[in-house]
Amino acid sequence: MTLYGEDDPNIRKCIRHGPVAHSRRNVYPPSANTPKISNNIKHLSFVWEMGSTIVTMLRLRRPTTLLWGFGLCLLLLFYVTVPSTNTDQCDCRGHQRAVTSSAFIGQSQQEDIRSYPNDKHKMAILIPFRDRFEELLEFAPHIHNFLNTQHKNHHLYIINQVDGLRFNRASLLNVGFLESGIDCDYVAMHDVDLLPMNAALTYQYPHDGPYHVAAPHLHPRYHYPTFIGGILLVKREHFRKVDGLSNKYWGWGLEDDEFFARLKEAKLEVFRPGNLTSGTKDTFKHIHDRRVRRRDMIKCYNQQEITRHRDRQTGLSTIRYRLQSKKEMTIQGAPMTILNVELECDRYVTPWCDCTENIGNTPKSQQSSPKSDDVIVPRLNRKKHLSHDG
Ligand code: UDP
Ligand code: MN
Repeated sequence: MTLYGEDDPNIRKCIRHGPVAHSRRNVYPPSANTPKISNNIKHLSFVWEMGSTIVTMLRLRRPTTLLWGFGLCLLLLFYVTVPSTNTDQCDCRGHQRAVTSSAFIGQSQQEDIRSYPNDKHKMAILIPFRDRFEELLEFAPHIHNFLNTQHKNHHLYIINQVDGLRFNRASLLNVGFLESGIDCDYVAMHDVDLLPMNAALTYQYPHDGPYHVAAPHLHPRYHYPTFIGGILLVKREHFRKVDGLSNKYWGWGLEDDEFFARLKEAKLEVFRPGNLTSGTKDTFKHIHDRRVRRRDMIKCYNQQEITRHRDRQTGLSTIRYRLQSKKEMTIQGAPMTILNVELECDRYVTPWCDCTENIGNTPKSQQSSPKSDDVIVPRLNRKKHLSHDG
C-alpha cells in the first residue's frame, strides 16, 4: 500500500524535523498504547449503543420503525467494515491523510505482528540515517520486497540524527537497538545505500554468531578480511553481550572495526555467505557517489589517537539521547518507523563530536597513548582491499 507518493515533498518533513510527538530520554521498553486502548473502548460502546437501539425498534414492529431499523443496520454495517482514519501517528501538518489504514499503524507498537508464522523470528532492520532521502526511496521498497520473497518477518527502523553534531553511525545503531520492538529477536545493522541484488543472500536468524551479509568478498568497496560493515545481523543477546557499539565515533570510519574487536574479545565467531555465484560487482548495488555524498573524514582534537584504539568505556549502556519524535510511514508499500533522534555528546570525553571550533589534531606530545595492543585500525593494502566504488 503506497500512502506517500515518491514525489511528495512532505515525506521529507516527516523524516526531518517534524513537530514533536513525544520526547523522552533513553526509555526502554517503549510503551505508547494508552490512546489506542481508549479509542477501542469508545468504538465498542458506540457499536453497543447502536445495536441496542435497533433491537428496541425491531421489537415495536411498526412499518416506519422497521424502515428506520433497516437504515440503522446499514449504517452500523458501514461503520464496522470501513477502516477508521487514524491520524495520531504522523502529525506533519497538512499531511494527515498519509496514515489511513489501522491495519499497519504502529506496527512497532503492536508488539507481536508476524507476517510469516513459519518464521519463528523477527528482524529489526536498523538504518542509521541523515540526509540520504533519495537512497531511502529506493532502499525501503527494495529490501521489503526482497525479505518478503524470503518470507522473513521484519520491520524497518530509520534512525534519523536530527541534532547539529557530526554523524555518529554507531550511536544511532545503539539507539535503534533500544527503540526497536522487543518482538524483534535480532537486528540487521544496515546501510541505506547498500541493496542486496542476489536472491541467494539470506537474512536468517544468526543463532551461532553474527552473520556478515556484506562480506569482504562481496561488498562493492571494502575487501579486507576483518571488515564487518555494510550489513551485519546480530541477535539481541549477542548485541547486549558486547555492550553494543562504541559511542566515540563521530564522523566517518572505524566504528565497525571497533565493533569487530568487541566481537573477537567476546569470542563470537562471524559467519558469512559462501557458494554464491555473484561477486563484488553484482551482489550489491551501492548507491554512493563520493562527490555528492562526501565522507566526513575530518579529525580534530585527539580524535585520531583515541579512536585508533579499543573503547572499553562506552556502548549500549552509556548512550545518551533524546527521542524527539517517532513516526510511522510507508514508501511504496514498505512500512517503517522513523525515529528522530538527538544524540548527546560529552565534550570532555569526545570533543570531536563538533569540529567547527578546532580543525586540526592535538599534538602527539599532549596526547595520552593507550595500550598499543588495543589498536583496532585494519592494515590495508589499498590495491587489494579497496575498490573505487562510491
Ligand atoms: N549515513 C547517513 N548519512 C550520512 C553518513 C552516513 O545516512 O551523512 C549512513 C547511511 O546509512 C550510509 C551509512 O551511514 O549508508 C554508511 O555511510 P557511508 O555510505 O558514507 O559509508 P561507506 O560505507 O560508503 O564508506
Ligand atoms: Mn556508502
